[in-house]
Amino acid sequence: MAQIIDGKEVSVFIKDKIKARTAQLKEKSGLVPGLAVILVGSDSASQIYVRNKKQACEYCGFYSESYELPADTTQDQLLELIDALNKNDSIDGILVQMPLPKQIDPQAVTEAILPEKDVDAFNFVNVGRIMLGEYNFLPCTPAGVMELLRYYKIDVSGKECVVVGRSNIVGKPMAMLLLHENATVTICHSKTADLPAVTRRADVLVSAVGRPCFITADMIKPGAVVIDVGINRKPDGKLCGDIDFTEAQKIASFITPVPGGVGPMTIAMLMQNTLTSAELKLKRRN
Ligand code: NDP
Repeated sequence: MAQIIDGKEVSVFIKDKIKARTAQLKEKSGLVPGLAVILVGSDSASQIYVRNKKQACEYCGFYSESYELPADTTQDQLLELIDALNKNDSIDGILVQMPLPKQIDPQAVTEAILPEKDVDAFNFVNVGRIMLGEYNFLPCTPAGVMELLRYYKIDVSGKECVVVGRSNIVGKPMAMLLLHENATVTICHSKTADLPAVTRRADVLVSAVGRPCFITADMIKPGAVVIDVGINRKPDGKLCGDIDFTEAQKIASFITPVPGGVGPMTIAMLMQNTLTSAELKLKRRN
Protein backbone atom coordinates (compact mmCIF):
# COMPACT_ATOMS: atom_id res chain seq x y z
CA MET A 1 0.00 0.00 0.00
CA ALA A 2 1.24 3.46 -0.90
CA GLN A 3 2.29 5.96 1.71
CA ILE A 4 -0.25 8.78 1.81
CA ILE A 5 1.32 12.19 1.24
CA ASP A 6 -0.29 14.39 3.88
CA GLY A 7 -0.62 17.87 2.37
CA LYS A 8 -2.33 19.21 5.47
CA GLU A 9 0.60 18.25 7.66
CA VAL A 10 3.17 19.70 5.25
CA SER A 11 1.17 22.90 4.76
CA VAL A 12 1.01 23.48 8.52
CA PHE A 13 4.77 22.84 8.74
CA ILE A 14 5.34 25.48 6.05
CA LYS A 15 2.84 27.98 7.45
CA ASP A 16 4.46 27.69 10.88
CA LYS A 17 7.83 28.58 9.35
CA ILE A 18 6.17 31.52 7.54
CA LYS A 19 4.56 32.65 10.80
CA ALA A 20 7.94 32.67 12.53
CA ARG A 21 9.62 34.57 9.65
CA THR A 22 6.73 37.05 9.64
CA ALA A 23 7.15 37.71 13.36
CA GLN A 24 10.90 38.27 12.79
CA LEU A 25 10.24 40.64 9.89
CA LYS A 26 7.79 42.62 12.01
CA GLU A 27 10.22 42.84 14.91
CA LYS A 28 13.14 43.85 12.70
CA SER A 29 11.42 46.36 10.44
CA GLY A 30 7.82 46.89 11.54
CA LEU A 31 6.70 45.42 8.21
CA VAL A 32 3.66 43.16 8.06
CA PRO A 33 3.12 41.25 4.78
CA GLY A 34 -0.16 42.27 3.15
CA LEU A 35 -2.28 40.29 0.70
CA ALA A 36 -5.27 41.61 -1.26
CA VAL A 37 -7.69 39.04 -2.68
CA ILE A 38 -10.25 40.09 -5.27
CA LEU A 39 -13.30 38.03 -6.11
CA VAL A 40 -15.60 39.07 -8.94
CA GLY A 41 -19.03 37.44 -8.86
CA SER A 42 -20.37 34.92 -6.40
CA ASP A 43 -19.01 31.53 -7.54
CA SER A 44 -19.42 29.35 -4.45
CA ALA A 45 -16.14 27.41 -4.90
CA SER A 46 -14.26 30.70 -5.33
CA GLN A 47 -15.87 32.09 -2.18
CA ILE A 48 -14.53 29.11 -0.24
CA TYR A 49 -11.03 29.60 -1.71
CA VAL A 50 -11.09 33.30 -0.78
CA ARG A 51 -12.21 32.50 2.77
CA ASN A 52 -9.42 29.92 3.11
CA LYS A 53 -6.85 32.45 1.92
CA LYS A 54 -8.07 34.99 4.46
CA GLN A 55 -7.81 32.40 7.25
CA ALA A 56 -4.29 31.47 6.15
CA CYS A 57 -3.31 35.17 6.29
CA GLU A 58 -4.62 35.38 9.85
CA TYR A 59 -2.73 32.21 10.79
CA CYS A 60 0.55 33.55 9.41
CA GLY A 61 0.13 37.01 10.97
CA PHE A 62 -0.42 38.86 7.68
CA TYR A 63 -2.53 41.88 6.95
CA SER A 64 -5.23 41.05 4.41
CA GLU A 65 -7.89 42.83 2.41
CA SER A 66 -10.63 41.10 0.46
CA TYR A 67 -12.80 42.64 -2.20
CA GLU A 68 -16.02 41.00 -3.32
CA LEU A 69 -17.13 42.76 -6.49
CA PRO A 70 -20.44 42.20 -8.29
CA ALA A 71 -20.55 39.88 -11.32
CA ASP A 72 -21.24 42.83 -13.68
CA THR A 73 -18.02 44.65 -12.70
CA THR A 74 -16.34 46.04 -15.83
CA GLN A 75 -12.73 45.36 -16.76
CA ASP A 76 -11.92 49.06 -16.27
CA GLN A 77 -13.34 49.02 -12.75
CA LEU A 78 -11.27 45.98 -11.87
CA LEU A 79 -8.12 47.50 -13.42
CA GLU A 80 -8.71 50.68 -11.39
CA LEU A 81 -8.79 48.65 -8.17
CA ILE A 82 -5.61 46.80 -9.17
CA ASP A 83 -3.91 50.11 -9.93
CA ALA A 84 -4.81 51.40 -6.44
CA LEU A 85 -3.50 48.18 -4.85
CA ASN A 86 -0.29 48.38 -6.92
CA LYS A 87 0.28 51.81 -5.34
CA ASN A 88 -0.72 50.73 -1.83
CA ASP A 89 2.43 50.16 0.20
CA SER A 90 0.71 47.95 2.76
CA ILE A 91 -0.11 45.41 0.04
CA ASP A 92 2.67 43.00 -1.05
CA GLY A 93 0.57 40.55 -3.01
CA ILE A 94 -2.49 40.90 -5.22
CA LEU A 95 -4.52 37.87 -6.16
CA VAL A 96 -7.50 37.95 -8.48
CA GLN A 97 -9.56 34.79 -8.04
CA MET A 98 -10.17 32.99 -11.34
CA PRO A 99 -12.39 32.33 -13.22
CA LEU A 100 -13.55 35.86 -14.06
CA PRO A 101 -16.86 36.78 -15.70
CA LYS A 102 -16.86 36.81 -19.52
CA GLN A 103 -16.60 40.61 -19.93
CA ILE A 104 -13.15 40.59 -18.29
CA ASP A 105 -9.99 39.41 -20.06
CA PRO A 106 -8.02 37.40 -17.46
CA GLN A 107 -4.65 38.03 -19.15
CA ALA A 108 -5.22 41.82 -19.15
CA VAL A 109 -5.94 41.59 -15.42
CA THR A 110 -2.88 39.46 -14.72
CA GLU A 111 -0.64 41.82 -16.68
CA ALA A 112 -2.00 44.84 -14.75
CA ILE A 113 -0.58 43.50 -11.48
CA LEU A 114 2.95 44.71 -10.79
CA PRO A 115 5.34 41.75 -11.22
CA GLU A 116 6.64 42.25 -7.67
CA LYS A 117 3.06 41.90 -6.32
CA ASP A 118 2.07 39.06 -8.70
CA VAL A 119 2.12 36.38 -6.00
CA ASP A 120 0.34 33.91 -8.30
CA ALA A 121 3.36 34.26 -10.66
CA PHE A 122 1.13 34.27 -13.72
CA ASN A 123 2.20 37.43 -15.52
CA PHE A 124 4.63 37.53 -18.45
CA VAL A 125 7.60 38.72 -16.40
CA ASN A 126 7.24 36.03 -13.74
CA VAL A 127 6.52 33.26 -16.25
CA GLY A 128 9.65 34.31 -18.16
CA ARG A 129 11.71 34.25 -14.98
CA ILE A 130 10.50 30.73 -14.21
CA MET A 131 11.56 29.58 -17.69
CA LEU A 132 15.04 30.95 -17.03
CA GLY A 133 15.16 29.50 -13.51
CA GLU A 134 15.69 32.98 -11.99
CA TYR A 135 12.57 33.67 -10.04
CA ASN A 136 11.31 35.33 -6.88
CA PHE A 137 7.96 33.57 -6.88
CA LEU A 138 6.80 30.24 -8.23
CA PRO A 139 3.21 29.50 -9.21
CA CYS A 140 1.56 28.20 -6.05
CA THR A 141 0.23 24.79 -7.09
CA PRO A 142 3.35 23.44 -8.87
CA ALA A 143 5.53 24.94 -6.12
CA GLY A 144 3.34 23.15 -3.57
CA VAL A 145 3.87 19.84 -5.37
CA MET A 146 7.65 20.35 -5.31
CA GLU A 147 7.50 21.08 -1.55
CA LEU A 148 5.56 17.86 -0.98
CA LEU A 149 8.20 15.88 -2.89
CA ARG A 150 10.96 17.57 -0.89
CA TYR A 151 9.25 16.91 2.46
CA TYR A 152 8.90 13.21 1.66
CA LYS A 153 12.50 13.12 0.36
CA ILE A 154 11.42 12.07 -3.12
CA ASP A 155 14.27 12.95 -5.45
CA VAL A 156 13.15 13.47 -9.05
CA SER A 157 16.64 13.89 -10.51
CA GLY A 158 17.08 11.52 -13.44
CA LYS A 159 13.54 10.16 -13.02
CA GLU A 160 10.85 9.87 -15.68
CA CYS A 161 8.17 12.39 -14.71
CA VAL A 162 4.90 12.61 -16.62
CA VAL A 163 2.59 15.61 -16.23
CA VAL A 164 -0.92 15.16 -17.59
CA GLY A 165 -2.34 18.60 -18.42
CA ARG A 166 -0.67 21.60 -20.07
CA SER A 167 -2.44 24.62 -18.58
CA ASN A 168 -0.47 27.79 -17.99
CA ILE A 169 -1.23 27.73 -14.28
CA VAL A 170 -0.51 24.08 -13.48
CA GLY A 171 0.73 21.70 -16.20
CA LYS A 172 3.35 23.83 -17.97
CA PRO A 173 5.00 25.36 -14.87
CA MET A 174 4.84 21.95 -13.14
CA ALA A 175 6.86 20.45 -15.98
CA MET A 176 9.34 23.33 -15.82
CA LEU A 177 9.92 22.93 -12.06
CA LEU A 178 10.49 19.19 -12.46
CA LEU A 179 12.92 19.95 -15.27
CA HIS A 180 14.81 22.42 -13.04
CA GLU A 181 15.23 19.51 -10.61
CA ASN A 182 16.76 17.40 -13.41
CA ALA A 183 13.81 15.14 -14.10
CA THR A 184 13.15 13.82 -17.60
CA VAL A 185 9.74 15.31 -18.24
CA THR A 186 6.90 14.43 -20.61
CA ILE A 187 3.81 16.63 -20.85
CA CYS A 188 0.55 14.99 -21.96
CA HIS A 189 -2.68 16.62 -23.08
CA SER A 190 -5.94 15.80 -24.83
CA LYS A 191 -4.19 15.06 -28.15
CA THR A 192 -1.65 12.65 -26.67
CA ALA A 193 -1.80 9.35 -28.54
CA ASP A 194 -1.94 6.36 -26.19
CA LEU A 195 -1.89 8.20 -22.86
CA PRO A 196 -1.73 4.99 -20.74
CA ALA A 197 1.50 3.94 -22.51
CA VAL A 198 3.07 7.26 -21.52
CA THR A 199 1.76 7.39 -17.94
CA ARG A 200 2.94 3.80 -17.33
CA ARG A 201 6.52 5.01 -17.89
CA ALA A 202 6.26 7.54 -15.07
CA ASP A 203 8.30 7.21 -11.89
CA VAL A 204 6.46 10.36 -10.84
CA LEU A 205 3.02 10.95 -12.31
CA VAL A 206 1.26 14.30 -11.87
CA SER A 207 -2.31 14.62 -13.03
CA ALA A 208 -3.87 18.07 -13.59
CA VAL A 209 -6.82 17.35 -15.85
CA GLY A 210 -10.01 17.94 -13.87
CA ARG A 211 -11.88 14.66 -14.44
CA PRO A 212 -12.85 12.18 -11.72
CA CYS A 213 -11.25 8.72 -11.97
CA PHE A 214 -9.42 9.76 -15.11
CA ILE A 215 -6.20 7.98 -14.12
CA THR A 216 -6.95 4.35 -13.42
CA ALA A 217 -4.66 1.84 -11.72
CA ASP A 218 -3.65 0.20 -15.01
CA MET A 219 -2.14 3.54 -16.12
CA ILE A 220 0.29 3.60 -13.19
CA LYS A 221 3.72 2.00 -13.03
CA PRO A 222 4.09 -0.16 -9.91
CA GLY A 223 5.96 1.83 -7.27
CA ALA A 224 5.31 5.21 -8.90
CA VAL A 225 4.81 8.43 -6.96
CA VAL A 226 1.33 9.68 -7.85
CA ILE A 227 0.38 13.33 -7.39
CA ASP A 228 -3.23 14.33 -7.91
CA VAL A 229 -3.74 18.03 -8.62
CA GLY A 230 -7.32 17.61 -9.88
CA ILE A 231 -10.23 18.92 -7.86
CA ASN A 232 -13.59 17.58 -8.99
CA ARG A 233 -16.98 17.54 -7.36
CA LYS A 234 -18.85 14.22 -7.39
CA PRO A 235 -22.65 14.08 -7.77
CA ASP A 236 -22.94 13.63 -3.97
CA GLY A 237 -21.15 16.97 -3.53
CA LYS A 238 -17.92 15.42 -2.20
CA LEU A 239 -14.53 16.36 -3.67
CA CYS A 240 -12.30 13.94 -5.54
CA GLY A 241 -9.20 14.15 -7.69
CA ASP A 242 -8.31 12.77 -11.13
CA ILE A 243 -6.89 9.51 -9.81
CA ASP A 244 -8.85 6.40 -8.91
CA PHE A 245 -7.42 6.65 -5.40
CA THR A 246 -8.66 3.34 -3.96
CA GLU A 247 -7.09 1.22 -6.69
CA ALA A 248 -4.05 3.45 -7.31
CA GLN A 249 -2.92 3.31 -3.69
CA LYS A 250 -2.47 -0.47 -4.06
CA ILE A 251 0.12 0.12 -6.79
CA ALA A 252 1.85 3.44 -6.05
CA SER A 253 4.66 3.99 -3.54
CA PHE A 254 3.38 7.44 -2.55
CA ILE A 255 0.05 9.08 -3.36
CA THR A 256 -1.70 12.36 -2.57
CA PRO A 257 -5.35 12.25 -1.48
CA VAL A 258 -8.03 14.74 -2.55
CA PRO A 259 -8.89 16.62 -0.42
CA GLY A 260 -5.86 16.98 1.85
CA GLY A 261 -3.07 16.59 -0.72
CA VAL A 262 -2.01 19.34 -3.11
CA GLY A 263 -4.87 21.74 -2.24
CA PRO A 264 -3.61 22.93 1.17
CA MET A 265 -0.13 23.37 -0.30
CA THR A 266 -1.37 25.86 -2.89
CA ILE A 267 -2.48 28.25 -0.14
CA ALA A 268 0.71 27.71 1.88
CA MET A 269 2.77 28.67 -1.18
CA LEU A 270 0.66 31.78 -1.70
CA MET A 271 1.56 32.80 1.85
CA GLN A 272 5.22 32.08 1.11
CA ASN A 273 5.15 34.27 -2.01
CA THR A 274 3.49 37.12 -0.11
CA LEU A 275 6.11 36.98 2.61
CA THR A 276 8.90 36.85 0.00
CA SER A 277 7.39 39.93 -1.66
CA ALA A 278 7.42 41.83 1.66
CA GLU A 279 11.02 40.76 2.34
CA LEU A 280 12.09 41.92 -1.13
CA LYS A 281 10.35 45.28 -0.57
CA LEU A 282 12.43 45.71 2.59
CA LYS A 283 15.62 44.86 0.66
CA ARG A 284 14.78 47.44 -2.02
CA ARG A 285 14.32 50.07 0.70
CA ASN A 286 17.62 49.34 2.42
P1 NDP B 1 -7.38 23.16 -17.54
O1 NDP B 1 -8.78 22.79 -17.88
O2 NDP B 1 -6.87 24.50 -17.88
O3 NDP B 1 -6.40 22.07 -18.18
C1 NDP B 1 -6.73 20.72 -18.21
C2 NDP B 1 -5.69 19.99 -19.02
O4 NDP B 1 -6.08 18.63 -19.08
C3 NDP B 1 -5.55 20.50 -20.44
O5 NDP B 1 -4.22 20.70 -20.77
C4 NDP B 1 -6.17 19.38 -21.29
O6 NDP B 1 -5.55 19.19 -22.54
C5 NDP B 1 -5.90 18.18 -20.41
N1 NDP B 1 -6.83 17.12 -20.77
C6 NDP B 1 -8.18 17.19 -20.88
N2 NDP B 1 -8.67 16.00 -21.30
C7 NDP B 1 -7.61 15.18 -21.47
C8 NDP B 1 -7.48 13.86 -21.93
N3 NDP B 1 -8.53 13.12 -22.29
N4 NDP B 1 -6.25 13.32 -21.98
C9 NDP B 1 -5.17 14.04 -21.60
N5 NDP B 1 -5.23 15.32 -21.19
C10 NDP B 1 -6.44 15.88 -21.13
O7 NDP B 1 -7.27 22.88 -15.96
P2 NDP B 1 -6.23 23.43 -14.86
O8 NDP B 1 -4.85 23.09 -15.23
O9 NDP B 1 -6.58 24.81 -14.49
O10 NDP B 1 -6.68 22.51 -13.64
C11 NDP B 1 -6.62 21.10 -13.72
C12 NDP B 1 -7.25 20.50 -12.47
O11 NDP B 1 -6.51 20.92 -11.34
C13 NDP B 1 -8.68 20.97 -12.21
O12 NDP B 1 -9.40 19.92 -11.60
C14 NDP B 1 -8.52 22.10 -11.21
O13 NDP B 1 -9.67 22.27 -10.42
C15 NDP B 1 -7.36 21.58 -10.40
N6 NDP B 1 -6.58 22.62 -9.73
C16 NDP B 1 -6.22 22.33 -8.46
C17 NDP B 1 -5.46 23.21 -7.75
C18 NDP B 1 -5.07 22.84 -6.38
O14 NDP B 1 -4.74 23.70 -5.58
N7 NDP B 1 -5.02 21.54 -6.05
C19 NDP B 1 -5.07 24.52 -8.30
C20 NDP B 1 -5.41 24.68 -9.69
C21 NDP B 1 -6.16 23.75 -10.37
P3 NDP B 1 -5.66 20.26 -23.77
O15 NDP B 1 -4.70 21.35 -23.39
O16 NDP B 1 -5.27 19.48 -24.95
O17 NDP B 1 -7.09 20.72 -23.78
